[in-house]
Amino acid sequence: MAHNLAQARARAGARGIWAVVKANAYGHGIENAVRAFADADGLALLETDEAQRARAAGWRKPILLLEGVFEHRDFALVAELDLTVVVHGFEQIAMLERLRPARPVGVYCKFDTGMNRLGFAADEARAAFDRLAALAHVRIEALMTHLANADRRDGSGPSVTSQWQALRARIPQWTGAWSVSNSAALFLHPADDVPAGMEFVRPGIALYGASPVAGIAAADLGLRPAMRLHSRLLAVRDLAPGQPVGYGSRWTAQRPSRIGIVACGYADGYPRSAPDGTPVWVESAAGGARVPLVGRVSMDMIAVDLTDMPSAACGDAVELWGVRIGVDEVAERAGTIGYELLSGLPARARERPE
Ligand SMILES: *Cc1c(COP(=O)(O)O)cnc(C)c1O
Repeated sequence: MAHNLAQARARAGARGIWAVVKANAYGHGIENAVRAFADADGLALLETDEAQRARAAGWRKPILLLEGVFEHRDFALVAELDLTVVVHGFEQIAMLERLRPARPVGVYCKFDTGMNRLGFAADEARAAFDRLAALAHVRIEALMTHLANADRRDGSGPSVTSQWQALRARIPQWTGAWSVSNSAALFLHPADDVPAGMEFVRPGIALYGASPVAGIAAADLGLRPAMRLHSRLLAVRDLAPGQPVGYGSRWTAQRPSRIGIVACGYADGYPRSAPDGTPVWVESAAGGARVPLVGRVSMDMIAVDLTDMPSAACGDAVELWGVRIGVDEVAERAGTIGYELLSGLPARARERPE
C-alpha cells in the first residue's frame, strides 16, 4: 500500500493526495491504511466511526468525510475528531447555518457535473456557494466534483475534460483549491485540465494495487497487490468420467480427474458468480501452478481440477487472489470489478493473517 501511494505521489506531482480509505480501506483495514498511507496529505472516508478508528490509530493529518454529515448531531464528532466535510446538499447547508462551532468547519463544496448522484446542480451552484461563503464559521477549502467516465476515453456520457470545464464554470471567480481526480483520472488522464491552483486528488483503488480500468493490468500502472486471499486444500479426491462436482452438478468430469476442495467460499468473500475455469493458484511441495475452478462456488468451499497437477496434495496452500492471481482477473471472470471483491471481504476472512 505504501508502494502504491508512492506511485500515486509520482503521478500527482505537486498536487495533494487524499488517500481514499472508505469501506474499511477497501477491505484492507483502516489501521493498516493509517500506517501505510503516512505520506498522504489526508484520509478520505465515509463514516464517522471509521474516522474515529483512524484517529484512534494515530492519524493526525486531515480526514475528509466524502458524503459529509447525515444528521446535525454528527457535527459533535466533526469537531471532536477535527474532520473536513463535503457539503453536497442544501440540507447540509441548513445544518451548518444552525451550527455555532467553537472553531470554523472546513468544507469541500461538491458540485454535480454529470454523475447526477450527489452535489449541487448547475442552477443551484451559485446559491449554495454563496450561502456557505456567507457563514463566518465555515471555511470553503475546495470545490469538488466526481468523475463518471475517467476509466475510458470515448463512449457516452461526460468526459473528464467536460466535467472539469463544468466545474470551473460553476464559480468562475474561484481561485482556491480543487478536488476532482480519482484513481483512473490520476493514472490515465494527463493533468492538463487542472486549472491554475492546487488540486487534491482522491485515489482509492490504485492504492490497493488493483486496476481502475478494465483492460489495463495493475502491474502495467506500476501497482502491487496489497491483499492476498489464501486458504488450503482441505481434501483431494479422484473422480471417474461422468461424475459431477458440487451443487447443481454444474461441472462433470470428462476424464479420470483429481479434484481438490479448497476451504474458501462466498462467505469468505469469494464471488459465487465465478465460472468454471476461473484460475486458482495451488502451491505444492514441487512448485505452484494455476488450476481451474470447477463447479459452483459454495458458502465455504470451492473445487479445483488438479488432474494436471499431480504434485498437489491435501494441505497445500492456495491463493484465490493476490500475487499469483490478480484480483482483477478473478473479478473479470466473475462479471464484477476488483473494487467489489476487495471491499466485500468479510471480517471472518480477515481474521487469520498468514
Ligand atoms: C471512492 C471515491 C473515490 C476513489 O475512487 P477510485 O476509483 O477508487 O480511485 C474518489 N472520490 C470519491 C468521492 C469517492 O467516493
